Amino acid sequence: MKTPKKKQTVRKPAAAAAPPIFQVEGRMSTFGGPDDHGVSPTEGLALFEPPDLQDPKYASLFLPAPPPGTSGLARRLNPEKYYLACRWDYSQTPRKFLRDAVAVVFNPENKRSAQARPVDWGPNVDTKRVADLSPGLAAVLGLNTDNIVRVSIPASAPAIAAPKATRMPKGARPGHGTKNPHPKPVIKKFVQSPNHSSRNGTPITMVVLHCTESSLDSTLTHFQTAGGTNPVSAHYVIDRNGDIYQTVADSDSAWHCMGANKGSIGIEHVAGETDALDRPQARASAALIRFLLEQYEIPRSNVFGHNFTPGYNRPGGTSCPDKLFGPVHSQATVAAWVQANV
Ligand SMILES: [Zn+2]
Repeated sequence: MKTPKKKQTVRKPAAAAAPPIFQVEGRMSTFGGPDDHGVSPTEGLALFEPPDLQDPKYASLFLPAPPPGTSGLARRLNPEKYYLACRWDYSQTPRKFLRDAVAVVFNPENKRSAQARPVDWGPNVDTKRVADLSPGLAAVLGLNTDNIVRVSIPASAPAIAAPKATRMPKGARPGHGTKNPHPKPVIKKFVQSPNHSSRNGTPITMVVLHCTESSLDSTLTHFQTAGGTNPVSAHYVIDRNGDIYQTVADSDSAWHCMGANKGSIGIEHVAGETDALDRPQARASAALIRFLLEQYEIPRSNVFGHNFTPGYNRPGGTSCPDKLFGPVHSQATVAAWVQANV
């Protein structure tokens, strides 16, 4: 399904410009980067998560290392890059669309304009400003705080995710609800594990793939066991024959990847240490991952093998996911499998 706006860009000749997807005009200020003490050292960004630092498509917006004493992405922004925040309406410009969109920022005073990447939602309406720009962008446009700026995302913007975003009907929550074109595969049985906790509001940004190194029965039994020396769980367990069991709701955090549980979904695959995925199991896993990526707007690059998950911090690491995805125990192997199958 496409929105009327997109249809116009498709059907009309280039000369008949379609109305912009987004446009505001008003006062601006600057934000982001190591010297922005208006944001806390831990403050994040509405459009990006720490795993995005691994993605070359987004990494260039950020400094190579966090400024000393900070852990949030807002202070890690590279102030020389051209980025901005506006109070986007996610029903018109979904978060997923904005992550790959390019806005045009125009200074009506001197007629200068530049392209910039949306990174955050803001500024607070109380500021009576319509946009916050990177210091580098403000400088190149000759703008100082409270000058007037016009921000637009043209209908013809080179937005990588535009076709996907326009599938969404007006008013739908991006990536959620019933509009997922990849239905959730059938769950054979939901067997609630006591080993789960709240995500505390952490968004789901990663899928972590595991090898059980044991049978289906012993895995499910282990996941039903509270306490003991190793209380664990995963959201899903996929048997060799492709049957999918669920033991923790997606909305909760399962205990499968120490240090990275809050923002991830864990999928176990029944296999021994030297086994590859069985064919029906691989099909079921790919279908489940496809559903999860769409449902939670997770980039394909954020599907990790257990041992290679950003934030995973169990001392000594793990041999998991073993040889499930190929003969070499590496994230490159997992990524290649995802590329070929999901
Ligand atoms: Zn594992």
